[in-house]
Amino acid sequence: MNNYMDEFMGAFPFEGLTYDDVTLVTQYADFLPDDTSLETKFTARTKMKIPFMSAAMDTVTEAPMAIAMALAGGIGCIHKNLEEDDQAKEVAKVKGYLNGLIDAPVCFHENDDISFLRSEKRRMGLKFNGFPVLDDQDRLVGMITSSDMRFAPMEAKKLKDVMQPSPITAAPGTDLKTAYDLMREAKVGKLPLIDKEGHVVGLYSFTDVQRLAENQHPTYNCDDKFRLRVCASVSGGKGDISRLEKLAAAGVDAVVVDSAHGHSKGIMDMTKYIVNNFPKIDVIAGNIATGEAAKALAECGAHAVKVGIGPGSICTTRVVCGVGIPQLTAVYNAAKALRGSGVAVIADGGIKLSGDVPKALAAGADSVMLGSVLAGTEESPGEKIYANGRKYVVYRGMGSMAALKNGKGSRARYFQDNESEDDLVPQGIEGMVPYSGHVKSIMTQFCGGLRASLGYCGAKTVAELQEKGKFYRVTTNGLKEARPHDITITKEAPNYRA
Ligand code: 5GP
Repeated sequence: MNNYMDEFMGAFPFEGLTYDDVTLVTQYADFLPDDTSLETKFTARTKMKIPFMSAAMDTVTEAPMAIAMALAGGIGCIHKNLEEDDQAKEVAKVKGYLNGLIDAPVCFHENDDISFLRSEKRRMGLKFNGFPVLDDQDRLVGMITSSDMRFAPMEAKKLKDVMQPSPITAAPGTDLKTAYDLMREAKVGKLPLIDKEGHVVGLYSFTDVQRLAENQHPTYNCDDKFRLRVCASVSGGKGDISRLEKLAAAGVDAVVVDSAHGHSKGIMDMTKYIVNNFPKIDVIAGNIATGEAAKALAECGAHAVKVGIGPGSICTTRVVCGVGIPQLTAVYNAAKALRGSGVAVIADGGIKLSGDVPKALAAGADSVMLGSVLAGTEESPGEKIYANGRKYVVYRGMGSMAALKNGKGSRARYFQDNESEDDLVPQGIEGMVPYSGHVKSIMTQFCGGLRASLGYCGAKTVAELQEKGKFYRVTTNGLKEARPHDITITKEAPNYRA
């Protein structure tokens, strides 16, 4: 428990503070920033290597963003302005990306023509080789490798003429490490898993297995099958149950029951429903801004709550409705109410620069959700456009007029499911942000900024920063001093834009 933080925040009983209102105080450190760990709690029962999540927005997160975030150690939340099947497909793309274990491998039959395999590979856009070959009862009888295809005799017509019969196999449930050892010993590139009847129930591919088993990429955020983790958003009420079922079938790891007002019956009912019926899925509920709401969602079984009413860069809730709490206070409210419960707090919205992140964590957040910071990247689905000789990417609020018109998910988030187009009342705007390259370089800057901050604050871990972080209140002059001043910037820094 951070007594200093309670005293500091207690000094502003009816005042809402946000990131620019405070600055972190330096504390003694006997380590270097490189020695810090950014590992954090994603939810009450799942950890994450870095405290970053991409926003569930239709101009921020589809599969490419979620893959890039999970490769960096964070996680992406696939938005819900997609048809149910399309959202589930985006989830499946993330889950299938590393192929540690391929659940449903592409197979062929021994009597298929060699030319059929070639044309199917082209049609499906498959870049890999190595296919199980089945008999007419769908039992494994051989494997086809790229060499079998390349060196096929001219007279060979059917796959059974060129396949390797009696391939090395393993039992269902074989873990990655065992598969790795087996494949190395037998020198095979593919290892099919078969059940007692000889049916193929999975396939390991050596390149992926080796990369993962040798931990060549220790930053990846993977599940216990070494597949990238992914989150997706759903709406409250009972309307999204079939969406949820499809996401679960696609292997989603976590869902956000996502609404502009999470302290409401529909969100709480849906949270309970998922917790009770999908016990393997981590449930995040939001958005909220008070301790009372945090407790209510935790009582419904939420493994994490998402905090943020109105701090978003594209958000107009505070001016359209006059509602919301400045983000630092909102995060503190939720974190304080949840102390000792294990439930994680995600600070969603309002992060502009990497220095905002340690402030959110010191106030009690376990991770932050990013919209505008990631919207300008190559991996975002936002349209890339040119204006004034520069490249930009379209970024819009999920409550903007365009998003409300475009998708059911947006309408549900803002409780306008049944309005006609003329009656829609937006709570967000549409715009563009500068193109900013790849997610990897943004994450490098944000993680670097956070490590440096931990060093300054004498905290080796995120948990330590939550324990001992200290704020000072900043005046208008202090804020002026904090930004570059009395200079014309001639070269843009990778982590600061005027
Ligand atoms: P940003 O990182 O750009 O400051 O904020 C992103 C967050 O703003 C999202 O994760 C979401 O919680 C919130 N948000 C997205 N679209 C809208 C909107 O149209 N209106 C409001 N009120 N909030 C939005």
